[in-house]
Amino acid sequence: MKKPRFQTPSGMRDILSEELTYYQKIFDICQKMADFYGFERIETPILEQTELFSRGVGQATDIVKKEMFSFKTKGGDELTMRPEGTAPVARAYIEEGMRSRPQPVKLWYFGPFFRHEKPQRGRYRQFWQFGFEVLGEASPVIDAQIIQLFFNILGALKFKDLAVKINSIGCSTCRPRFKRILSSYLRNRASSLCSECRRRLKESSWRVLDCKEEKCQAVINNAPQMLDYLCEICHKHFKSVLEFLDELSIPYILEPHLVRGLDYYTKTVFEIVEMGKEGKSFGTLVGGGRYDNLVKILGGGVVPGCGGAAGVERIIEAMKERGVKVSSPSSPKIFLCQLGTLAKRKSLVLIERFQENKIPIAELLSKDSLRVQLERANKMGAKYVLIMGQKEALEDKIIIKDMATGRQKLVEIKKVINEIKKQLKK
Ligand SMILES: [Zn+2]
Ligand SMILES: [Zn+2]
Repeated sequence: MKKPRFQTPSGMRDILSEELTYYQKIFDICQKMADFYGFERIETPILEQTELFSRGVGQATDIVKKEMFSFKTKGGDELTMRPEGTAPVARAYIEEGMRSRPQPVKLWYFGPFFRHEKPQRGRYRQFWQFGFEVLGEASPVIDAQIIQLFFNILGALKFKDLAVKINSIGCSTCRPRFKRILSSYLRNRASSLCSECRRRLKESSWRVLDCKEEKCQAVINNAPQMLDYLCEICHKHFKSVLEFLDELSIPYILEPHLVRGLDYYTKTVFEIVEMGKEGKSFGTLVGGGRYDNLVKILGGGVVPGCGGAAGVERIIEAMKERGVKVSSPSSPKIFLCQLGTLAKRKSLVLIERFQENKIPIAELLSKDSLRVQLERANKMGAKYVLIMGQKEALEDKIIIKDMATGRQKLVEIKKVINEIKKQLKK
């Protein structure tokens, strides 16, 4: 087949109706959970000032260095298509004066994000995420509640055997010392690291811990662990989070080298994964953590925060792999066929009466052939077919055909709505 002249940009795609039923299902579950746990919805713009991300997410992160769609507008503004949701939410918290509201402020979002990654299966440059953020509360109970909330959402989507991988990456008191120790450990083993990690060493030894290269795994596995260097406050916080998770019977795995590649995290970082047989985990479904410094970095004072986000495409892919089906909205049970100009005119009006009565009805008014219309009614699985021919139209009547029994009934047009209501009630 000849390629069409216009195609979606690389790594982007059209999402068609059948696929969108999955998005709708996930959205509906998020909405229910948000209502229950008292989260308000927020939608921030697709575009933000580039500096929001270079400062908030971090200059040396992969997202900011390589993956952002950034450009200069005709007016000279440096803008970026949002690659993630937490920095924009924190920006909105400051800009909309949410600090003067009763704290904590709980917000959730569901929308498209953009990263210029190498296109590969299941990875898109425009992808959808939903996230839940709690701002203005430092208590470790929030960390546990956020994890619980994502567990509930995934549970409602029929995910089983979920576990949290969890770690603490400390705070500005205890982390610098650990970073020095980690750096010297890694620098001594630089020759065993991949070229990317040798480059990372120069900027942030921290990022090496994120490397997935096999070559680097042995070095990473034996690296010093942040958990051994936590200050007293961070240590207490982490212990409480784990106790709350125990209380909620949420299974967790201590993952001492989990750092998550964003600069704004402090203390708790976590990922939710589905465990397969033999303890092997499939990909990450949710990622998140605490970010007690983010609002401050963005110029909004000391406001602790905690949250997480999930990739919608990843979740849908996993649902499909497991054969989880979502039902599409049921198609109308009634189909209206017409034959002749007068019948077409009267049908046009009749359809509006069905609309006013909120009874879904399907039709093919643009077609003249009765055979074509009946074929469509059959294909749709209509329970009742209404037929208005030339004769019926002249007499202001219409035929109701029960497709299961084949029985037909001639009724006056003005009575057809009531008659159909009666039939549907049966
Ligand atoms: Zn600390
Ligand atoms: Zn590496």
